[in-house]
Amino acid sequence: MKNLIRLFLFALILNALLSATLAQGTSYRHRPAPAAATTIAFKQFDDPYSEFRNASYSNAGLLNERDEIKLGTQLHREVTKKFNLTDVGLDRVDRLGQRCARASRRPNLTYKFHVIQSREINGFSLPGGHIYVTTALLKLANDNELASVLSHEVGHVVARHSLKTLKKSKEYDDIATSLGDLTGVAGGVARDLGVALGQMIGAGFLTVHSRDEEREADFLGVRAMPAAGFDPQGMVTMFQKLGRIEEEDSDLLGSLFSDHPDAQERIENTRYEIARMRRR
Ligand SMILES: [Zn+2]
Repeated sequence: MKNLIRLFLFALILNALLSATLAQGTSYRHRPAPAAATTIAFKQFDDPYSEFRNASYSNAGLLNERDEIKLGTQLHREVTKKFNLTDVGLDRVDRLGQRCARASRRPNLTYKFHVIQSREINGFSLPGGHIYVTTALLKLANDNELASVLSHEVGHVVARHSLKTLKKSKEYDDIATSLGDLTGVAGGVARDLGVALGQMIGAGFLTVHSRDEEREADFLGVRAMPAAGFDPQGMVTMFQKLGRIEEEDSDLLGSLFSDHPDAQERIENTRYEIARMRRR
């Protein structure tokens, strides 16, 4: 139990560090126009996704898939305690989401889509294929736009981003051992693990990603959209809507969108990839 408390403190500190880094990062939005123009011009000649094109994905070196799914079940239980889940819009999210999942580079995992009742526009994913979007996001997005968010979140699951974050924590071994010992949702092991994981959810430890991870999820997301039967242009118009809201009423943007890379950069990167897909 002491280890779990240490884990929580570690998660809090890491989260504070991450928030500070992200806060610095978001100030790019207000850079002067000439600097932005230079960056944009440079980007046109530069493949924003070069480092991801030959990536391969597996659980090697991370929690195995069985334990990842167990972890996801435990984390989801904590999410249900912290957020109001609803059936409103769930059919639509599941229908579109399953198409994105099947077209992804991890099609054999069982994905579970969930809707959170909230006026914040937000979406996130957890290990084991749990993906969440808010009712406010559902209202804002048409089907192609919603699919772009779901496909992006599936991308985080494909690339095992949360598992990689977990692996870097020094209490990883304790959690891995607990998951190995875990046979059901009842009992002391589940209870202690639940407390630690609940605090991780609260601190955003597993749902806040680096900018490179966001770029990778965008890449995996937009690549899967045509195969899933969606217009990848929906990702561009989604970012445009988010960018507009960020300017008008940024309080409506959940931390996950406000912490994501600059909307304009994401629009340019997405357009680059759509043009590239059309050439092939
Ligand atoms: Zn993301």
